[in-house]
Amino acid sequence: AAAHENKVKNAKLVLLGDVATGKSSIVLRFVKGQFVEFQESTIGAAFFSQTLALNDETVKFEIWDTAGQERYHSLAPMYYRGAAAAIIVYDITNPATFTRAKKWVQELQSQGNANTVMALAGNKADLVEARKVTAEEAQAYAVENGLFFMETSAKTAINVNEIFCEIAKRFLQAQ
Ligand code: GDP
Repeated sequence: AAAHENKVKNAKLVLLGDVATGKSSIVLRFVKGQFVEFQESTIGAAFFSQTLALNDETVKFEIWDTAGQERYHSLAPMYYRGAAAAIIVYDITNPATFTRAKKWVQELQSQGNANTVMALAGNKADLVEARKVTAEEAQAYAVENGLFFMETSAKTAINVNEIFCEIAKRFLQAQ
């Protein structure tokens, strides 16, 4: 076999977080490069797949976008158990969604897989004037809890590819 043969590694990834924080929009931005103002609510969960090439390796993300409504909470473990990565999303303009994100972190730490790469995404970073959660607060929380943190905007594409790239790097390092 060629020394530089490209290896494809599958990585199951789950998005968790409150309703309307922009989980589906982040996936749509990453997978299709698009944004829609009136994204329809996800029912249950939706599946997408997207590859990302890094140097001589390729990560094939198998993405599960969960609904976020409390009535689907009992389904969440099916998606995060066995996940290589999780993106926990909150909306920087809505402090309640940050509180909810911390609950997801706790749940993954207690019920999930210790090897799951966890990312905290402060989404809607384009809405700076309506900001209610500071980046400093979220960064401090992330450091304390062993996740990495980025503010993202599915609308303007800020840090969307970057967060998936960082996850891919950490995922490959852990192999
Ligand atoms: P989900 O329920 O977490 O999947 O959230 P959606 O992706 O359905 O997004 C909820 C609403 O927020 C929609 O109206 C989106 O257009 C909007 N939205 C999502 N991401 C962003 C963002 O980065 N910036 C802004 N301004 N709006 C966003």
